[in-house]
Amino acid sequence: MRIAADYLFTGEENPSPGRLVIENGRIVEILPPGESDIDLGAVILSSGLVNSHVHLDLSLERDSDTIPGSFEDWLKGVVEARKELGDRGLVEAAVTGIEESLSNGTTAVFDIDPRGHSCDALQDSDLKRVLFREVISLEAGFSADKTPAEIIDDFVGETSDPSRELRAISPHSPYTVHPHVMANLLESCTGNNRLWATHVAEAEWEQELLTEGTGPGAEFLKRFGADPTDWKLGSSWIDDLDSKGALSSSGLIIHGNHCTKDEFRQIAASNMAMVWCPSSHAYFLRPAHPAPEALEMGVEVLLGTDGRLSAGHLSMLEEMKSARKAAPQIPAADLWRMVTIHPRSWLARNGHGSLLGSGRLQPGDPADLVAVSIPSHSEANTSPLEAALDGSVQACWIDGRVINSSAPDSSFAPGREEDR
Ligand SMILES: [Zn+2]
Repeated sequence: MRIAADYLFTGEENPSPGRLVIENGRIVEILPPGESDIDLGAVILSSGLVNSHVHLDLSLERDSDTIPGSFEDWLKGVVEARKELGDRGLVEAAVTGIEESLSNGTTAVFDIDPRGHSCDALQDSDLKRVLFREVISLEAGFSADKTPAEIIDDFVGETSDPSRELRAISPHSPYTVHPHVMANLLESCTGNNRLWATHVAEAEWEQELLTEGTGPGAEFLKRFGADPTDWKLGSSWIDDLDSKGALSSSGLIIHGNHCTKDEFRQIAASNMAMVWCPSSHAYFLRPAHPAPEALEMGVEVLLGTDGRLSAGHLSMLEEMKSARKAAPQIPAADLWRMVTIHPRSWLARNGHGSLLGSGRLQPGDPADLVAVSIPSHSEANTSPLEAALDGSVQACWIDGRVINSSAPDSSFAPGREEDR
């Protein structure tokens, strides 16, 4: 099958017209404009969008556009909501989230899930995923007779579908995981090239807890019967892990809202990546996110929605728009790279390039694709990547199969029946 489009996004600032040749679910060739089986016209055709941070089991309606109370109360509310929904409700929420993701051109997610509900909902789904199993441990030890590597293996379990799914671990945050457990788990991930993700510096008080053992973070821990002095590292979390040799490229820093320039330097030097969730960030009424500084320090920035409960949607196109609103100085091409190439290059440099390919529409990549329209009212001097931020998802493919097509013209979906 040959798909033609006016703009193929391969990572460059100025996408050019061309055709993709798809065979057996993979891109086999990029050709100049010419005859095709489908001509998409004025769209950006790019690798499928990756939502690099989501909690699919929290795909719930949010009550308001901004957080009504404190962040700590909100966290408590999440724990209660999960209890109330029960196993069935959480799987149902995740199913809703999967459908919303696919209909918005997302072909892969990095999901964090505390108890396996997203995992259940994703069985038999086309959506590709890295499933991070969340660890929360206020205790200093996990198990007396198992090594951290064995604990991780038991915890994340075996994937039933290695072509679509990778399993990993997510110590929730520096304040909800005892520093001993955190260091043990991350050292083991580094030694075994296992991927990990952690919510870092999400709240301003995290730094005070880790350096002084005091503040709102300390009060939060006391409410759960933990001794906050155990959390007093005397340095930043990243400094502490760095000194223990536990930082490696297999780590994903989620949020990093209050990271310093030095910390960004360490994140970049260890080849980790960082996920920015601009919609969710706006919901929590936080001060401006330091993504522009992180980019300046050489950090590879990815985009995520976080849960629908805080983001209000699961669309990466919306997320690019939120990023644009928060930091208009970031060029559109960078925003597109954050949702296509960067998550894939993080996977690739950690030995998992085959799951999602390069994101640059290269021969051999899986044909996970999205077509985003360029509105006809766009100004003539607006670049196509810029204009498409106001466009809409026209169609999306996973492994060359049409997953979603909003076009009334059925020519968008040739072979849909025989492929399925
Ligand atoms: Zn999160």
